[in-house]
Amino acid sequence: MAKLVERFICPVCKRHSTNEPEALKCRNSHAVIKEVWAVSEQYKEPWKNKACNVAHYGEERALFEADLPDDIAKRKQKIAELIDTDPEKCRRLGYTQKS
Ligand SMILES: [Zn+2]
Repeated sequence: MAKLVERFICPVCKRHSTNEPEALKCRNSHAVIKEVWAVSEQYKEPWKNKACNVAHYGEERALFEADLPDDIAKRKQKIAELIDTDPEKCRRLGYTQKS
């Protein structure tokens, strides 16, 4: 006859264990994921600052993108300024008038 048993599952890899310490040990054995993000320095409070993942944008664009305002009109203005002042950088970063 079937019976109910507890399983302790690692939240990272989903491996089943029969006891909690084993599951905790498994959870803690997984490596931390390290990523590099470009973060604006606009605000004193770190969580308010815009952050862009370098793996997604590339380093140069992530740094530029992090400093772009969230306000759409101001953002378009900054990109228009880049198109005027440094069209080569603008092409390299992949920005257009519609970005
Ligand atoms: Zn695990």
